[in-house]
Amino acid sequence: MTNAQEKIEGLRSKLHQYNFEYYVNDTSLISDFEFDQLMKELQDLEALHPEFYDSNSPSQRVGGQITKNFETVTHAERMYSLGNTYSEEEIRDWVDRIIKNLDGEIPTFTCELKYDGASINLTYEKGVLLRAVTRGDGTQGDDVTMNIKTIPNVPLKLQGNFPDLFEIRGEIVMPLAGFEALNRKRVEAGEEPYMNPRNTASGSLKLQDSSETAQRPLSCLLYALVGKNLGFKSHYDALVEARTWGFTVPDTIVQADSIQGILHYINEWENKRDQLPFEIDGIVIKVNDLKHQELLGFTSKSPRWAISYKYQAEQASTNLETVSYQVGRTGAITPVANLTPVLLSGTTVKRASLHNADQIAKLDLRLGDRVYVEKGGEIIPKIVGVDHRMRGLIEHRVTYIENCPDCAATLVRIAGEAQHYCLNTTGCATQIIGKMQHYIGRTAMDIEGLGGETVALLFNEGLVSNIADLYALKEEALLPLERMAQKSVDNLLLGIEASKKQPFAKVLFGLGIRFVGATVAKRLASYFGSMSKLMQATEEELIAVDDIGVRIAQSLVHYFQIPTNRELVKRLTQFGVQMENETLALTSNALEGKNIVVSGVFETLSRNELKAMIEEHGGKVSSSISSKTSFIVAGEGMGPSKKVKAEKLAIPLMTESSFLDLLDS
Ligand code: AMP
Ligand code: ZN
Repeated sequence: MTNAQEKIEGLRSKLHQYNFEYYVNDTSLISDFEFDQLMKELQDLEALHPEFYDSNSPSQRVGGQITKNFETVTHAERMYSLGNTYSEEEIRDWVDRIIKNLDGEIPTFTCELKYDGASINLTYEKGVLLRAVTRGDGTQGDDVTMNIKTIPNVPLKLQGNFPDLFEIRGEIVMPLAGFEALNRKRVEAGEEPYMNPRNTASGSLKLQDSSETAQRPLSCLLYALVGKNLGFKSHYDALVEARTWGFTVPDTIVQADSIQGILHYINEWENKRDQLPFEIDGIVIKVNDLKHQELLGFTSKSPRWAISYKYQAEQASTNLETVSYQVGRTGAITPVANLTPVLLSGTTVKRASLHNADQIAKLDLRLGDRVYVEKGGEIIPKIVGVDHRMRGLIEHRVTYIENCPDCAATLVRIAGEAQHYCLNTTGCATQIIGKMQHYIGRTAMDIEGLGGETVALLFNEGLVSNIADLYALKEEALLPLERMAQKSVDNLLLGIEASKKQPFAKVLFGLGIRFVGATVAKRLASYFGSMSKLMQATEEELIAVDDIGVRIAQSLVHYFQIPTNRELVKRLTQFGVQMENETLALTSNALEGKNIVVSGVFETLSRNELKAMIEEHGGKVSSSISSKTSFIVAGEGMGPSKKVKAEKLAIPLMTESSFLDLLDS
């Protein structure tokens, strides 16, 4: 073995081990930071030595492979569905049938949670993950191996005493905390939140870019081992053993030897399901002994040795009184159902989201309908159906509005989006107030002494009609307002004045440009340094910035094309709001005006250290080579396409050491 190969193998086995300890034994042997460092080291070495490629290297977790079409694969053993029951009675009947069919042998059972996600079939050969296939129609599914490899608790290499070849089945779920964090990020970026964890999990498996799947907080919970002669007596033993190889088998699985045990489990989890970190839609009961399973066999659809008990989704029925429409600060319209108040899992529900026009059409809603509302993973309840038996003779079909409920502008449905929009951004009161509320909000300018309601009041009194007007507010105009004592006025004006000190990145975020969330704003601010530079940037220049994609770039260009927006920025500038980064104490300005691309791996510095160094000396780091690139700091393993481009545009390359010399001089 060469030196590099040894190093690579060493890092791989260390990382596999840390992962195993973390996901199987719940112990962190090193910090996240150290883990990331080792991973980085491995990635750099692998980039330098493609000859040692390993499709199950821990570095596969970061993804990056693009799958255009997922290959269809036939399952070696069919993936059946499960028989459903909703009552204790049916469970008793099922148990009785089992006992009868086993001719006097006494069965025992396992009780497991029914994890609510997307099913997956993993094949392992010689201890490495060979293939991951979705359930599909049960006979054939899609090969989503590249995406599955990015899920942290799917072992890529097994430990211990595993069979040479086997399949293991499980459910890919998105735990609730991760789902909520993901949605917070989306809302911050001006995007629609996802509806529920289950659909988001299954959608994540079909993303073409596996590095995107890597960003999704997914988890794989295993529930069955499949294969001939694996040497286990019972289903339970097999799962417990699989844990020792590196699989996550939830410890909520138990063995039961009677109907009482089963019913106890059902009731226990009906009460405790809210405490689980992920969603379940019921429980699954299986005959434990594998010989018994074989004796019982399958019907055409499902195994006779297993059954699921589904919990009723928390549902209630009530009347649809009216439908109203909300206008968001971006102009997006959300239809809302106003309901006769009804109690649903402990809270009174008066409203339900109807999402968009398609949703209303799908439900074929009429005013006065008796509707079913359900609380799923979403925060706001939704209408899941209509009780047609209760429908009267006179029907008022709910027709989607054509004009903005606020300003009466004609609504527009943008191609590719489910939502209708009011495009009257400068004349629509709700949008204007919403935009101002965003600007003063905690994550943006954080203006103390000024709240959302006061902003609405100021607007309604004709004192402000955009965020710049806030800075022109005078004490005399505020004092006569209701609930505005001297003290509140003082606080308000002080808060507004203080906001002039907020950094440029916050101002940029505060403008509320579509898709420009707090993180993107920070990136843009540090790259361009000032509003004037950002405003001049073309779409191509914007895309060249790390982390900025086409959608964000187009949105920015569009925003600054609109004269009222440019005027707004001009006024804010005149009032003294920060429109450029504070000049950090630079080490030097040796690289001022230089646009630099960093490529490859370096001997002494990491790429991030190098990038930081460039910025400390006044230079800028771009992600792609263009005619504006001043030079490229090129390490080992610079990509061939980059080389060609650099040559074509005659961009000079610089080694790490000559770059460091340049800074020294
Ligand atoms: P159904 O889709 O209702 O027919 O239920 C069958 C599906 O339940 C399987 O395809 C699995 O994806 C899922 N499932 C979730 N948890 C379990 C479990 N513990 N055992 C078996 N199947 C499960
Ligand atoms: Zn409007």
